[in-house]
Amino acid sequence: MVMTTTEGILLAVCVVLGLALAALLVRRRLQARRQHLSSEGERNSVLESVLEGLGDACLLVDDRHHIVFANRETGELFQAGGDLKGRPLAELIRDERILQFVRRLEQSGAKWAEEEFRVGILSNGVAEERFLVVAAAPVKLFGDASRRHFRVVIRDETDRHDTEQIRKDFVANASHELRTPLSIINGYLENLLEGDIEDHAMTRKALVTMQKHGERIARIVEDMLTLSKFESVGEKGISSLRANSFSCRECVEDVVERLAPLVEEKKARFQLKFPPAGADQIRGDRFYWDQILFNLIENALKENKPGNLVISVTMERDGAAAVIRIADNGIGIPRADLPFIFKRFYRVAKHHSQKIKGTGLGLSIVRRAVEAHGGTIGVDSTLGLETVFTIRLPDYVPDAAPGESGGTAD
Ligand code: ADP
Repeated sequence: MVMTTTEGILLAVCVVLGLALAALLVRRRLQARRQHLSSEGERNSVLESVLEGLGDACLLVDDRHHIVFANRETGELFQAGGDLKGRPLAELIRDERILQFVRRLEQSGAKWAEEEFRVGILSNGVAEERFLVVAAAPVKLFGDASRRHFRVVIRDETDRHDTEQIRKDFVANASHELRTPLSIINGYLENLLEGDIEDHAMTRKALVTMQKHGERIARIVEDMLTLSKFESVGEKGISSLRANSFSCRECVEDVVERLAPLVEEKKARFQLKFPPAGADQIRGDRFYWDQILFNLIENALKENKPGNLVISVTMERDGAAAVIRIADNGIGIPRADLPFIFKRFYRVAKHHSQKIKGTGLGLSIVRRAVEAHGGTIGVDSTLGLETVFTIRLPDYVPDAAPGESGGTAD
């Protein structure tokens, strides 16, 4: 077939137009795809940044239980480095009970499930017990309705759980400590009511015993109230106490004077060593410092037998910081007990504290009070030789003189 020139031109135009149209369509499709990809990418990065800042470990796993997404907190919680994407969930979470929990949710078809687990997690090579709350739910992913994914959120509730446990222990210990003197008082009251109240000698003996146990209850309640006051001071620290500068030496001398009958009973000698007047200043709530020093000095007296008992209280400056030591050359504290003596109601083995007055709350009050002033307290002891409590206080900042603005004069 022979094509005329006009037909040839028409055909060429059609081919060019067809090609141009095809190119246009391809470009449109590419543009749309690029737009879709970039909005999906943006959506993912927004989602990721939201999940990164949540504080909980958040994971997305596919139906083969492989990780599709894991935020930074997940790696931190399970001490897993590198990119977690694509790795099996079982490689990250070693606790079979948590894996079974996710599998059960998948099989049940439930919309959501939550469970608590006490697990051991390696932290810097050391196994640490953690209390985890795990919540999981199936999710539909955009553009992939055929596959089921699961969202797993893991909250580390260890701190809250520990605090709750401490509170429970406190209530249990306090009730136990109060129960003994209360039942003794009740027993004596019953005897008095049923017996011969006219027997004055017996009645007096019962009343004296009841008074002793009544005083013990009062002291336990008082110590508990002081302790709870410090707990409410908590992280607010010294700013919520009445802080003034005062002479630490004077505070110690006052305490020793108040303890004069016990000092006399124990025939104790005191050695006080302080920097010169002015340099012996510390800053804090004097009311609580009386209590800190009273408890420590009273312990040094009451825990030890008379006979060459020497108690030394010293203060040194370490730059602007202050180091206060309360030491005695008495019975000492067994090494095994040292880590526990600041715990509430802890009293060292019966052999030396059974007959000695005390609630086991004194040192917990001391530690709380020192910490509320931004300081630290530690103890060192050698059985039969000495016990030394060391308080370290942060840099001393003198009170501003009245009217002093802190600015420089011209
Ligand atoms: P308590 O109210 O019974 O005195 P603390 O909390 O003050 O309780 O002290 C806890 C325990 O630590 C005491 O029961 C005692 O066994 C021991 N302890 C404290 N200070 C001394 C010390 N200077 N020498 C020997 N033991 C001490």
